[in-house]
Amino acid sequence: MELPFLCNFYSMGLPGHRRTSGDKRRRRTHIALAEQSGTTCPKCKKIIRPHRACAFCGTYRGRQVLAAASLK
Ligand SMILES: [Zn+2]
Repeated sequence: MELPFLCNFYSMGLPGHRRTSGDKRRRRTHIALAEQSGTTCPKCKKIIRPHRACAFCGTYRGRQVLAAASLK
């Protein structure tokens, strides 16, 4: 109803002070990508993603589940 009157009390939050380039760099030290974790394939001993079939020999838990890249 009395929106123009209420708007006199409304003020938007504003930054307290200017963020320096050092603030920006310090904040961004935490956004680096983490190194990918991996396990070793029991058959071909290559580093693979955990809980996934080996992309090199196509085995998962000792079973052949994919056509191996070397067999193609
Ligand atoms: Zn493998």
